[in-house]
Amino acid sequence: MYRRDIAPRVRRESSLALSVAALVFGMFAISDYHYIGVGTALYLLLVMRLVVVASCLTLAFLIGRVGDYSRRVWLHALPLWILATAIILIVPLRPESLSTQVTAVVVATMAFYLLIPNLLPVVAIASLYLNLGFLAAAVMAADTPAVVVLRILLLLIMTNAVGFFALLRLEGLQRKQFALLQEERVQNHQLVEEISHRKSLEAQLRKVAERDGLTGLDSRGHFMERAQALLQRSQHEKAPFSLFMIDVDHFKAINDNWGHSQGDRVLAAIAETCKNSLRPQDVIGRFGGEEFIVALPATHPKDAQMVAERLQQKVSDLAVMEAIPDHRLTVTIGIAGVLDEATDLDALIHQADQALYAGKHGGRNRVVISHETRS
Ligand code: GH3
Ligand code: MG
Ligand code: MG
Repeated sequence: MYRRDIAPRVRRESSLALSVAALVFGMFAISDYHYIGVGTALYLLLVMRLVVVASCLTLAFLIGRVGDYSRRVWLHALPLWILATAIILIVPLRPESLSTQVTAVVVATMAFYLLIPNLLPVVAIASLYLNLGFLAAAVMAADTPAVVVLRILLLLIMTNAVGFFALLRLEGLQRKQFALLQEERVQNHQLVEEISHRKSLEAQLRKVAERDGLTGLDSRGHFMERAQALLQRSQHEKAPFSLFMIDVDHFKAINDNWGHSQGDRVLAAIAETCKNSLRPQDVIGRFGGEEFIVALPATHPKDAQMVAERLQQKVSDLAVMEAIPDHRLTVTIGIAGVLDEATDLDALIHQADQALYAGKHGGRNRVVISHETRS
């Protein structure tokens, strides 16, 4: 994964390092001229440098485009071998400048190790080839005394050791860093999932808290919040506001005679009917048991009375009891309306409740406006 992750960087950096190295290698033609003057050796050196620069730049271009180093290692090794060969070949062509060339070999070896990322074996083998080849050329073509060869050998061993272990350590550290980063990414991912899971749980909880399970209407708490906001807005805008308390008549008898599940079905059907006969801006909730509560913003109690009567009619038209289709369900509705700005929701509910109570006493199946609202 680490290799895949750094692949684009390796391509870019290798390509850049190689291009710079090729150009620097080409520029050493100036020192060729300085050491040996015009002659066959200079022409040979110039041709060689040109070939090296051209081939290295081509390879740098290829590495930049298609240098996937896990599949085409040779593409990365080849330029190192070309450069090494060229550096070795300079010895027989310019034997008198051996001391300068030793410096060049040391620099080239360090450059191999430090500038080619994450290819330690490739770099080590190429640098071994460069160093051994250079020593062999120094012995054979430059007549170097044994003691100097030994000195060069020691210097190159040290250079290789420093380069090798520096790169080894660097690569180890980079891999560790990558592993830590990876771990952090995984943990972050888990955290994000955990957060979204919690959010969805929260949303579900909110939904459960806001809805009544049987009827699907607003729960009492949620209704109160919404109605409070609507009431405040109406008072602020000096618009009328009305409230219904709806109670199913003789509901206990339905439970007692046909069972609770039938009672539940009746309740759900009445809730549905009430909801459908209201306007979209009205808010209806289940206040408790077989009682419903409705907030009607921008509605004068007189208009609210008409809405309530329509609702009462629709409920009595309901035919939910298959066993006794003639059974009429009825509701009693108490209405309260806002008359002054001081009226709060609790007071309004209390007034509607009293009107409902009066309706029950008056024989049920009726709509009653609270006397505070009427007066
Ligand atoms: P009234 O006309 O005076 O309102 O008579 P009622 O029988 O409707 O009133 P009461 O308060 O005596 O009975 C209400 C019944 O509603 C009692 C209770 O068991 C029943 N009830 C409350 N919640 C539910 C429910 O969720 N499902 C069912 N099936 N019954 C419920
Ligand atoms: Mg009741
Ligand atoms: Mg009742």
